[in-house]
Amino acid sequence: MDRYFRPMRIEHYEDLIGPEALERIILKARRLHDLRVINISSTFYGGGVAEILSSLTLLQRALGIRADWRLIQGSPDFFSITKKLHNALQGGDINLSELKKEIYEGINLHNALRMDVEADIVVVHDPQPLPLITHFRHTCPWIWRCHVDLSRPDPDAWAYLREFVDDYDAMVVSLPEYKREVHIPQLFFMPALDPFSIKNREMSDAEINDRLRHYGIPEDLPIVAQISRFDRWKDPEGVIEAFRMARKEVDATLVLLGNVATDDPEGQEVFESLLDCKEERILILTAEDSALVNALQRRAAVILQKSLREGFGLTVTEAMWKGTAVIGGDCGGIRHQVEDGRNGFLVSTVEEAAKRIAQLVGDADLRRRLGTAARDTVREKFLMSRLAEQYLDLFESFEPRFTLNHRRGARLEIATPAARR
Ligand code: UDP
Repeated sequence: MDRYFRPMRIEHYEDLIGPEALERIILKARRLHDLRVINISSTFYGGGVAEILSSLTLLQRALGIRADWRLIQGSPDFFSITKKLHNALQGGDINLSELKKEIYEGINLHNALRMDVEADIVVVHDPQPLPLITHFRHTCPWIWRCHVDLSRPDPDAWAYLREFVDDYDAMVVSLPEYKREVHIPQLFFMPALDPFSIKNREMSDAEINDRLRHYGIPEDLPIVAQISRFDRWKDPEGVIEAFRMARKEVDATLVLLGNVATDDPEGQEVFESLLDCKEERILILTAEDSALVNALQRRAAVILQKSLREGFGLTVTEAMWKGTAVIGGDCGGIRHQVEDGRNGFLVSTVEEAAKRIAQLVGDADLRRRLGTAARDTVREKFLMSRLAEQYLDLFESFEPRFTLNHRRGARLEIATPAARR
């Protein structure tokens, strides 16, 4: 088996976090040994939630937690509605008709009917599976983990979703700014990356060359890249405009690498709308290839994440971990990672982005200085071991009320959407 597919062990983190932190995490995990935790989300790949869950659940298993990860299924119209709800939570418009609510709740009922949830803790991710809770007997803690930027939600969408949220035992959001008025405790867990995954591990120059060559990415000029789901909030048009402005001053190649998550029906349309912008020095690629993401984040002179809204922005963390200079949109979670001028740059406009691209492409020393500070930031704050420890603390905090003794579970209790209202 490839050396990178060895089973995850918390001890792998020792060199990064030190023996004391390692010991502390192991002791906390020992107290929760065999705890059954079920995560429920809506896609196995494409986007930060899937990225985090694939590593987090393995690390939790390595810690003796029986972490499981389930998906809900849904028709395209269901995912079109949940994407609208997602956008509305981030401040977009939505026409929340009764029909949309019926489809949203109805598909959740169908998923509940198909699902055995025998667990000590259930963690539901994002709005797609949020209403599931209404169909189960409440015999163990249910946590809603919301990964989106909740600072300015559409009021109607939030009022509607909040009814479900209040059924939970706790809500976890990424940042204090996303705190909402709810009846349940709220916690703040910033996301984190797995330094040992294919996407983040070290790569040799030969491996990087191989990946870039495979996709026809030229290296004769410095590379400027943005790696993101094709989504309007990520402002791919703004990136292209900024790059065109910067090219009046410096020569470079722009690579927009993106993917489309299975629960995101808008992605294909955004991708297609960008294709007219392709030219010799503007590459627009779509590929499901974590090693390519890694290679690009390492080889690029500059990684952009010019988002207009961003729950957290794991792509920023990933590039920073690789010591690459980043330019991030001054919003959401990016602000908590990038300290302007110290470990990267924050920008609010296309013009600012263009100025920073030109500056960074032209100044290798500045890139090195920012990149070194960026890697330190990730080591201190954004490794998966920190997130795993936060979850251990949260799981343990429920113990007195729910007696996490593995005999309790979340049992299905049929309640139709109509009966709820
Ligand atoms: N990603 C990827 N391939 C792509 C585009 C994105 O693997 O073509 C990954 C990216 O590396 C990161 C995740 O998708 O791990 C995106 O997470 P982020 O928090 O930045 O944004 P989200 O998509 O969750 O809004």
